Amino acid sequence: MCQFCHQHGEGKKWYLKAENYAEEFLSDMRRSKYIQHFFRDPQRLKDRIDLLDTLNRMPAFVQAVIKPAILGRMKKMHHGQVLPIEDVKEIFGFANSVVRLPCICRQASLGTEERFCYGLSMVPVEVSKLKEIVEAVGADYLTGPDVKGLEVVSKEEALEQFKELEKKSLFHSVWTFMTPFIGGICNCDDDCMAMKATVKKSLPVMFRAEYVAGVIPEMCNGCRNCLRACQFGAISFSLAQEKVSIDALRCYGCGVCRVHCKNDAITLTDRGMIPAAADIW
Ligand code: SF4
Ligand code: SF4
Repeated sequence: MCQFCHQHGEGKKWYLKAENYAEEFLSDMRRSKYIQHFFRDPQRLKDRIDLLDTLNRMPAFVQAVIKPAILGRMKKMHHGQVLPIEDVKEIFGFANSVVRLPCICRQASLGTEERFCYGLSMVPVEVSKLKEIVEAVGADYLTGPDVKGLEVVSKEEALEQFKELEKKSLFHSVWTFMTPFIGGICNCDDDCMAMKATVKKSLPVMFRAEYVAGVIPEMCNGCRNCLRACQFGAISFSLAQEKVSIDALRCYGCGVCRVHCKNDAITLTDRGMIPAAADIW
């Protein structure tokens, strides 16, 4: 179990606890202003990620002081965790409304509007403060190039969209806005700021999933479809054995590789059951 499961989930998966999505959190003015500020300026987000390159060039002792301070702040304000589709489905089971939103990361990294982020609400979105908060971000955010505004989607539609994104190798992650409030689920790849910070710039702003993937060797034909789909470089191929294997120390447990395996040769196991990976987040 990750740190948040202990702190905000009573020892169970914190993101499956409905109270962490409660509408009451949105009555906090500080939180609503934080959310608006977060979405208002993609360039600021990009600049902050670029600054990590400067930090990574500093002496190790400086990094050892600054990085824990930044991470401590991120855990309080905006932190994420990778999760597989079965847990997304469970979250949709207790959420009341789902809205599809433009991804601030893609706006920052590509300058385009990509609708890969989903806001969740425990009350109908029409009466939720989420609508008011997001609409107040500004005209540019919700009426970008494709002018879709705040798109309400059914939970079934959202789940199908998530599955389609997995086929394109995107993985899912939940995000807090002033922890423990969870505001939504994103679909991520290399264009995501969290991916850049966590994997490329050594600042882990999202926990790995509560799972680790493994291959059943007898069922693997060595096609390497899974290897091409893994965003984390956790899968390697053995020419001698004509099979792949998954490095538990690198695996984020997203489960995306499973979708790309026609032989059902990949399974997810509880991270706690894999001693080598149990304490790696
Ligand atoms: S090997 Fe791990 S990190 Fe890579 S796609 Fe599979 S579950 Fe995700
Ligand atoms: S996709 Fe499946 S069959 Fe193909 S290499 Fe990966 S585990 Fe083996």
